Amino acid sequence: MPLRNPQIRLNIFWFRRDLRLTDNTGLYQALTSGTPVLGLFIFDTDIIDKLHKNDLRITFIHNNLRLLNLFLHISGSAIVVKKGKPVDIFKHLADTFSVEAVYTNEDYEPYARKRDAEVSVYLKSKGIHLKSHKDQVIFAPHEILKKDGSPYTVYTPYARAWLEKFEHISLDIKPIELLLDNFVKATPDKIDEIEDFGFVENRMPVPDPVLNARILQNYAAERDFPALQVTSGLGAHLRFGKVSVRNIAKQAKAHSPIFLGELIWREFFMQILYHFPHVAEKSFKPNYDNIEWRNNESEFVAWCEGRTGYPLVDAGMRELLATGTMHNRVRMVVASFLTKHLLIDWRWGETFFAEKLMDFELSANNGNWQWAAGSGCDAAPYFRIFNPAEQTKKFDKELAYIRKWVSEFDTFDYPKPIVEHAFARERALLTYKKGLNS
Ligand SMILES: Cc1cc2nc3c(=O)[nH]c(=O)nc-3n(C[C@H](O)[C@H](O)[C@H](O)COP(=O)(O)OP(=O)(O)OC[C@H]3O[C@@H](n4cnc5c(N)ncnc54)[C@H](O)[C@@H]3O)c2cc1C
Repeated sequence: MPLRNPQIRLNIFWFRRDLRLTDNTGLYQALTSGTPVLGLFIFDTDIIDKLHKNDLRITFIHNNLRLLNLFLHISGSAIVVKKGKPVDIFKHLADTFSVEAVYTNEDYEPYARKRDAEVSVYLKSKGIHLKSHKDQVIFAPHEILKKDGSPYTVYTPYARAWLEKFEHISLDIKPIELLLDNFVKATPDKIDEIEDFGFVENRMPVPDPVLNARILQNYAAERDFPALQVTSGLGAHLRFGKVSVRNIAKQAKAHSPIFLGELIWREFFMQILYHFPHVAEKSFKPNYDNIEWRNNESEFVAWCEGRTGYPLVDAGMRELLATGTMHNRVRMVVASFLTKHLLIDWRWGETFFAEKLMDFELSANNGNWQWAAGSGCDAAPYFRIFNPAEQTKKFDKELAYIRKWVSEFDTFDYPKPIVEHAFARERALLTYKKGLNS
């Protein structure tokens, strides 16, 4: 532990999905509390023990911790990075230092809420307050409710209520520059290498997000065309809080209501998972759990590897494998294809995405998979079955996206379609109908 004076009274700021200094609500509160602040990040073994050794998100987090550490060095401080169960780490820190309070930002996922409740009970037993602040959202799940206090389950009225409230809030960005001196002084320590946390570096590049007035102004017209690559690329950056959602929402408000609508979808699904945590395992609409999925394993593998013989589907899956991301329009097509054409349980696709997506977010992934399968709140009706060929005509007419990812397209090496579209469509309609009426 690199502190010069272990007797010092301090506050801890616990970084989680907010890996930035600027406009970080909990951090700002900690730094203005009058007590020096120690920055902490925990590689939570309850989460990371389930991940592959070369998980790309761990590399992303590790790189960003190193970046944060560099900034903290400027003010003579350092971030403490530990691996373990959070309660155990806090036991150690509370025994080692005189901790006044632990500041953090709210996390609304089921596991995070359980973890934070346990940490809070432990800290309380030591007379230490856990102070949680709203940061990753404009509106927390309990802030947008119907008049009778129940949660919204349909996007449009939720979005209306969200926008109404949004008109009346200020989006002031909390500056950090003058507060950097309020971090605990520590010898500039290096963060352990990624291997010391049990992982290996994943060298997949993560492009920096680009958001400017031009992109936002053209977003509504261009966002559905995967070859253009004109969406923001903010997914992982929002997921891990590298950017402030208030800052993004401010720009969206000025230039693009459609883009703002996507940020509302993000919060819509977050509040669905918060109020209806059963969706993490089950269909939002219970009768969709009666569908008899075919769950053919070799077809699933062909889908995962981008070998279905449907070029748009294969291009999307290959983009995912090569980059850790996939264009939203294509995500919709591949999800519809898996659940409808192949009749494979949406949870299989959801799990595969969760493993591969750099921007994996439980609420958005689950909400969108259930949307595609028809089982979710406000979902696509089950009889809406994307036709990959029609989607290609509409959104990749020049085949630029397909050619980029499927190099053997148009050659004899490219596989034949795994199933015929009209047959698969009829089979899906019958299977869904049967399941929903049983
Ligand atoms: C089957 C499926 C699974 C998905 N899984 C995820 C996931 O795990 N994590 C994730 O962040 N998004 C997910 N999405 C939503 C969407 O595809 C991605 O947010 C988007 O493609 C990320 O690229 P971008 O940052 O360039 O998006 P942009 O179009 O630039 O959008 C900006 C931001 O708005 C939010 N957003 C956009 N669309 C949605 C949406 N439909 N639902 C919720 N938030 C949205 C994201 O935070 C995104 O970064 C999924 C969509 C589908 C169809």
